[in-house]
Amino acid sequence: MKTALITGITGQDGAYLSEFLLGKNYRVIGLMRRSASSDVIGERLRWLGVIDKVTLVEGNLTDLGSLIRTVQTYQPDEVYHLAAQSFVATSWQQPSLTGLVTGLGAVTMLEAVRIARPQARFYQASSSEMFGKVQAIPQSETTPFYPRSPYAAAKLYAHWMTVNYRESFGMHASSGILFNHESPLRGIEFVTRRITDGVARIKLGLADHLTLGNVEAKRDWGHARDYVRAMWLMLQQNVADDYVIATGRTMRVADFAALAFAAAGLSMDDHVRTDQALMRPAEVELLLGDPRKAERVLGWKASVTLEQLAAEMVEADLARLSR
Ligand code: NDP
Ligand code: GDP
Repeated sequence: MKTALITGITGQDGAYLSEFLLGKNYRVIGLMRRSASSDVIGERLRWLGVIDKVTLVEGNLTDLGSLIRTVQTYQPDEVYHLAAQSFVATSWQQPSLTGLVTGLGAVTMLEAVRIARPQARFYQASSSEMFGKVQAIPQSETTPFYPRSPYAAAKLYAHWMTVNYRESFGMHASSGILFNHESPLRGIEFVTRRITDGVARIKLGLADHLTLGNVEAKRDWGHARDYVRAMWLMLQQNVADDYVIATGRTMRVADFAALAFAAAGLSMDDHVRTDQALMRPAEVELLLGDPRKAERVLGWKASVTLEQLAAEMVEADLARLSR
């Protein structure tokens, strides 16, 4: 039986990856930071019915000792480093913390693995946000980066350090440059969940409108369940490498909103307002990934359409709010 260690197990991807790896008969260990709300923090794992099947270990990315001890104790075959301050908007409010956790935290984790289990295969959760002010359309593994937020700059540091540990120490360390991926378990602050939660509230008569920021921004959105499969596939390769994971289709925030309202039998035009206060200091206007390398080498392809994703998220939010 293989052992996988997941940092960020309580997040969206950590929950889906746990479910996926348990289905492949892995022993799943998850790093969880101490919280005064520990009763609610495992909500996503509970939602997927896997919380009792994983081992949760207390630790924090800012505490090297806790990471070394965890790696030393469980001797993982694969390490999926997903933990981060992952919300772009917050990264302007807390740039130092974002640098510490999202950037340096990855290096701290790489160090723990190098010290305690150097032969483990390592996955770094890199991001399409690193392309920022895009230098080419679509974006592939060879497109130059241009980060536009403290989050993206921190991810870029973590990304290059992963490449550096691969080249310096021969570690099997891969970066997945994942484009936005969503699900009913997406954090409520991200635009897709804000929209589907808002749609459900309007449908149930709990609200009459939804306020958004820049609805013209375009994203290449996929389903998280598809994307965690790509993470695993990367670590099954003989040689570590970096891969863009995307659907190859881009849509406006307004288009996603239209799909979500339509899924509930509503019209977006009757219910959406925009507010300048929700605009960002610097925007990433357009992301569109070129997933051909992942298709060719990993045999990976997105299987869920944006229409299906929006409908699934709206349905889940309606069910949540009707409870
Ligand atoms: P989430 O925000 O849902 O999860 C982040 C996880 O990191 C949570 O488990 C959180 O714990 C944990 N965490 C935060 N700070 C610390 C810390 N100091 N020590 C230990 N754990 C910590 O992110 P997603 O699941 O959506 O994304 C997974 C990874 O992929 C992230 O690194 C994200 O930046 C990256 N990514 C995501 C994309 C997406 O579209 N979802 C696209 C590209 C990259 P807690 O529950 O306690 O807050
Ligand atoms: P990101 O791509 O990681 O920043 O993911 P988000 O879901 O947070 O944002 C995607 C896009 O939606 C960005 O261009 C935002 O500016 C835009 N957007 C528009 N309105 C909102 C909103 O109310 N909340 C969020 N989070 N994003 C919004």
